[in-house]
Amino acid sequence: MVYLLHFDKKYKHAQHYIGYTENLDRRLHEHELTNKGARLLQVASAAGIKFTVAKTWDGDRKLERKLKNRKKSSSLCPICRGEVT
Ligand SMILES: [Zn+2]
Repeated sequence: MVYLLHFDKKYKHAQHYIGYTENLDRRLHEHELTNKGARLLQVASAAGIKFTVAKTWDGDRKLERKLKNRKKSSSLCPICRGEVT
């Protein structure tokens, strides 16, 4: 599963993180509690930024790569598009 995290405020220019996991709950737990993996999430959370899961896709790492290569992740994000509050 591919997931999109939306930050409650921007870290430098970043406001999103796209990742892939087999188990989203476990992965988020790792992000929050052990800071395992993504450097961006480590520094963002050290800066007091909270993140929420904006969207998930039923896809593999190929999809993750494809989505990461898109420049504007905000166009993928329902929160940024005002579809979710
Ligand atoms: Zn967003």
